Amino acid sequence: MEVTTDDITSLLREQLEAYQPDLDVAEVGEVINVGDGVARVSGLENVMSSELVELPNGVFGMALNLEEDNVGLVLFGDTRSIREGDIAKRTGKIVEVPVGKEMLGRVVDPLGKPLDGKGAIKAGKSLPIERKALGVMQRQPVTQPLQTGIKAVDSMIPIGRGQRELIIGDRQTGKTAVAIDTIINQKYTHETDEPVYCIYVAVGQKASTVASLVSELEENGAMEYTTVVTANASDAAPMQFIAPYSGTAMGEFFRDNGGHALIIYDDLSKQAVAYRQMSLVLRRPPGREAFPGDVFYLHSRLLERSSKLSDELGGGSLTALPIIETQEGDVSAYIPTNVISITDGQIYLETNLFNSGIRPAIDVGLSVSRVGGAAQIKGMKKVAGTLRLDLAQFRELEAFAKFGSDLDKSTLAQLTRGQRMVEILKQGQYVPMRVEEQVVIIFAASKGALDDIELSNVRKFEEELMNSLKTSNPEILSEILSKGKISDELDLKLSDAINIFKKGFIA
Ligand code: ATP
Ligand code: MG
Repeated sequence: MEVTTDDITSLLREQLEAYQPDLDVAEVGEVINVGDGVARVSGLENVMSSELVELPNGVFGMALNLEEDNVGLVLFGDTRSIREGDIAKRTGKIVEVPVGKEMLGRVVDPLGKPLDGKGAIKAGKSLPIERKALGVMQRQPVTQPLQTGIKAVDSMIPIGRGQRELIIGDRQTGKTAVAIDTIINQKYTHETDEPVYCIYVAVGQKASTVASLVSELEENGAMEYTTVVTANASDAAPMQFIAPYSGTAMGEFFRDNGGHALIIYDDLSKQAVAYRQMSLVLRRPPGREAFPGDVFYLHSRLLERSSKLSDELGGGSLTALPIIETQEGDVSAYIPTNVISITDGQIYLETNLFNSGIRPAIDVGLSVSRVGGAAQIKGMKKVAGTLRLDLAQFRELEAFAKFGSDLDKSTLAQLTRGQRMVEILKQGQYVPMRVEEQVVIIFAASKGALDDIELSNVRKFEEELMNSLKTSNPEILSEILSKGKISDELDLKLSDAINIFKKGFIA
C-alpha cells in the first residue's frame, strides 16, 4: 500500500490531538553548586517562587532566585551534607508552619518545631508562610483599641486592632520593653474583652536574651496566650529571613477565624541584613546600602498582611508592631524610611530621653498614630485630647525658662503642671496599666490635682490613688470602661473621689 503525504499529515494530526503534556510536578533537578546556605539547581524549570524543594538527608530548600537556566535555593536543615550532583525534587508546595491554639505557650523555630523541650506540638492545621495580602474590600478601618497598657502610648499614640505601628529607635532605648509590656497587657483582654493572642518573633537576637524574655513573659502569665518564634543570631540567614513570615501565618490563623492577634517583629533591621546576606550569596545585584532592589517588597508584603477584616469575613484582626533599630537616630536610612512608609505610624524612642530618666523614652513630637484615634475609648479621648499640645508647649516653655529668672505666676503654674504631666507619663517595665486607670490619673493631673504634690511623690500618689479607687469606688473605674465616655455626673464623682483621697494622702 502506498502512503501519501495526506495520510501522514492526518496521522500526525491524530497523534497531536491525543498528546497530553506530562504534568509531573515532581520535577527533578540537580545541584550545580552549594555553599553558605544556598544552592544553585538546574532542571527545575517550573518551580515557583518560595516553593519547597526536597534535597537528600532531610534538607530542603526554598526557591528564591528563578533564573533562565538555574534556580537559587536557600537551604534549611543540615546543609553540610549537600553536595554537587545531589538530586533536588519539586514539591509543588510553599513552606508551611503549624498554626492554632496548640502553638500558644510554646517557643518554636521558624518552621514551627518546638525549642522549649515541652514535647511535640499536635497542631491540627498548617498554613503557608507566604500568602497574598487581602484586598481593600476584605478589610475595614480599625474600630477597636489595641491597648498597650503604656500611658504615653494609649493616650497620645493610640493603636487600633489591625493597625501596623512601628517601634523605632537606637539600640538600648526600650524598644523591646514597649512590645513586651503590650503583650503582658493583653491579659486584661482575656478577662474582660475579646482576647488578643500574641506572637513574638525574635530575629537575630542572642539565645540568652530570648530566653530571659520568655521567662519574663511566663512570670507575668503572658505565655498562656503567646507564641514565641525565634531565629537567633547564631542561626542561618534563611531562618532569620523566614521567621517573620512564619509568625504572621500563625497570627493569620486567629484573624481568619474571627479572633484577634498581635504580632511583634523584633527586629526587621536584622531580618533585612539576613536577606542582604542571602541575596549577595545568590549574586543578586546590590543596590542602596548593598541591599537587593526588592528589600522594600520584603517588608511591604509582610506588613500588608496585618489587617482588620470586614464583618463578612468575621471581623478578626492582626495588629503588627514591627521594630526597627536606627543608628545614631538616623531615621532617614534606607530600611527605616521603607518601614516608616509602610506602617500606619511610629513610636519613636530616643536615647537622650532614656538617659535623662524619661522612660518609656517616647519622643512625643516625632511619634504618630495615623489611624488608631478612631478606636480610642471616648473617656481617654476626652482627658488626653490636648495632652500632646500641652506637652509641646511645656517643652518650649521649659527651654525658655532656663534663661529667665523671674517668671510670672501663670508661667510658673504652667511649668508646674507640665512637670507633673511628664512625671505621670513615666512608667516602669512589666507594669502595664488598665486603660480606665490611665484615664483616672491623666484626668487628675489635667485638673490640677497634682499641682501641689512634690514631683518626687507623684508616683506614690498615683499608686495609692488607684488602690483607693479600687477599694472604695470600683464602680467609677468600671463605668469609665463600660460607658466609654465621661459624663458630667461621672466627672463630678471622680473629682470628689480624688479630693477625698487627697485629703488623706500623706507624702
Ligand atoms: P536592644 O537595642 O538591645 O534590642 P531595646 O531598644 O530593645 O534594646 P530594651 O532591651 O527594651 O531596649 O531596654 C533596654 C534597657 O532599658 C533594659 O535593661 C530594660 O530593662 C530597660 N528599660 C526599658 N524600658 C524601661 C522602663 N520603662 N523603665 C525602666 N527601665 C526600662
Ligand atoms: Mg530589643
